[in-house]
Amino acid sequence: MANDEYSALSYASSRFHTVRRRTVEVKVGAVGVGASHPVRIQSMTTSDTQDVAATVKQSIALAEVGCEIVRITAPNVAAAKCLQDIRAQFTAAGFAHIPLVADIHFLPSAAMEAVEHVEKVRVNPGNYADKKKFAVKEYTDSAYDQELERLHETFSPLVKRAKELGRAMRIGTNHGSLSDRIMNRYGDTPLGMVESALEFLRIARSHSYHDIILSMKASNPKVMIQAYRLLVSRMAQEDMHYPLHLGVTEAGDGEDGRIKSSIGIGSLLLDGLGDTIRVSLTEDSVYEIPVAQAIAAKAMSLWRTPALSSQPSALSSDSIDPYHFTRREPEVLKITEHCVVGPEQPPRVIVRVDSTGQLAEAAKVLAQPKLKDTPAEGLLVPINTLGDLATLCEVAATTELPVAFLALELGPTLLPEVLQPILALSKGRMMLVRKFSGEEAAIFTAFVDLARRHGQFLAADIAPADLPAFEDTLKELGDAGLVFTLSTTAPSAGHAVGAYRQLAQALKAAGSDAPVWIRNTAATAVQGDNSFLSKLIEASFLTGSLLCDGVGDLLSIETEADVARATKLAYNVLQGAGARISKTEFVACPSCGRTLFDLQTTTQRIRAQTGHLKGVKIAIMGCIVNGPGEMADADFGYVGGAPGKINLYVGKNCVQYNIPQAEADGRLIALIREHGKWADPEPHQLSLA
Ligand code: SF4
Repeated sequence: MANDEYSALSYASSRFHTVRRRTVEVKVGAVGVGASHPVRIQSMTTSDTQDVAATVKQSIALAEVGCEIVRITAPNVAAAKCLQDIRAQFTAAGFAHIPLVADIHFLPSAAMEAVEHVEKVRVNPGNYADKKKFAVKEYTDSAYDQELERLHETFSPLVKRAKELGRAMRIGTNHGSLSDRIMNRYGDTPLGMVESALEFLRIARSHSYHDIILSMKASNPKVMIQAYRLLVSRMAQEDMHYPLHLGVTEAGDGEDGRIKSSIGIGSLLLDGLGDTIRVSLTEDSVYEIPVAQAIAAKAMSLWRTPALSSQPSALSSDSIDPYHFTRREPEVLKITEHCVVGPEQPPRVIVRVDSTGQLAEAAKVLAQPKLKDTPAEGLLVPINTLGDLATLCEVAATTELPVAFLALELGPTLLPEVLQPILALSKGRMMLVRKFSGEEAAIFTAFVDLARRHGQFLAADIAPADLPAFEDTLKELGDAGLVFTLSTTAPSAGHAVGAYRQLAQALKAAGSDAPVWIRNTAATAVQGDNSFLSKLIEASFLTGSLLCDGVGDLLSIETEADVARATKLAYNVLQGAGARISKTEFVACPSCGRTLFDLQTTTQRIRAQTGHLKGVKIAIMGCIVNGPGEMADADFGYVGGAPGKINLYVGKNCVQYNIPQAEADGRLIALIREHGKWADPEPHQLSLA
């Protein structure tokens, strides 16, 4: 089936409000997932499963910080047998109410053992009785059907036993471990991921087994978002309503790991999809829980019942294709020689200060060498009075501002005539930023005229509902020098991602291709608070979701007052969404009981040595389970091959086997040099390591 056939299918009741998708309830032990239950938080132990004491200890630590479902790897039958003791000891410690999940790859025999002891079993359709050797082979329809029959035989015993015992199951597809059969027929695509799960789902349903949860994980949030949407769309077509487990695999650690997870999981939760989540971080698992809880709390605060939705099928009026990435093509806006906004350009970063009095200090901070590779390009300052204008003139005369342009956020009383002198005197580039109500088409025209007369720009903040009132004016004026943005969104209008989608739609209706500036403000937040984690999640939700939808040409994270942090956060969100690459991209697995080296210290060590290689993608994987697939679009891979031994990859090809770990960093760097991707760090980059 061609991908296009999915475009017309609906995956969400609304693209503007969060209307929770209707699902059946699946009981994982005592914990209900889906239906009217809250989003369940889960994580995974990282100890060797056969070390029962360590695994119980980690499970308790997770439960104590709020983990509601604990997953444990079962790489072989011996480990699966240990689940019995782990379950017993965990229960004896007072955690009978927390279900355990066995994570299975490759071995049906391990699954058959594990299902006896724990409340849920996760299978990966890519490697459960299937193989992945990157073999290229054409399957005829009958050869493909034979393979499906073989799958039916191998998977059915587990399904039947799970049904007898009342166990739940996750059919958990990973982008990185699709079987050769799926890869050859559907390619390395979201569609392949969906079909891979559906094959297993059909077998389960043939036995009238329905305690199923599905996942479609990938390390690339865009791929993951598209795959989940496609899955839901496909299931809806067949009247299937199983809950979803959301997660971004190999997200990495620190700010980057949190951002990638928040983009992927948040985008889907805002769409109303998702019933249980795991934030995978290359850190101790307990650190995943507060992030997951914060993400879930924000999304759940938006839940509306379908009956309350004023837009039962709003998808039909949104022309963004949710299943394929296509960037909205904006009109080119040449701010300076080096700061151009347009379809071939990366989104531009703007930071905000609260008053003109902070400009000089902000200029100093933004000029620091540590921001050389991630410069703020615009500086936004509120101008409400003539006094503010006077201070601005003073600062501009005495201070060199290390940005391409100043954005002046104008109060409603400042009219074009009072701004005329500063625009006439200014030698730098300026963007006037103003909110216009639906009755202000004439004032809007006056501001466009003012900006154009002085070769400057205008960012118009117009609510999507008011934009139709500007249609004629916009058609007459054209897009030159114009940007559109939203600094607030009315809660009744839905979430801010929806408001920006509506803005893009309204601009299209008005025939405008003007660039869109995504403003992360307190008023566009789902549920903001002053913690950095909250700001990070909000920025990932709004900016990340929109960038993955192809919308957004400039961005500002105005909730963060520290301009250096706001700049870094903006670049990290851009990197997480794959919209602007400013440093090395690391794909690092979260580690589990299969891990063959210390992932946290190794990731930090490799990052310290290679973090300055802009545009290079390095995968660091504890074992080979998801390795080669996820590394297919990584340039280099550092993978656990055996205890104390590392395999190095170039793309998906293993080029060095079983290197002693002590030599592996040096060999990796040598490999990067050999492939012409090495650069010695500059002094300011050394200080970052
Ligand atoms: S890739 Fe990492 S998280 Fe995945 S199974 Fe291997 S060690 Fe565990």
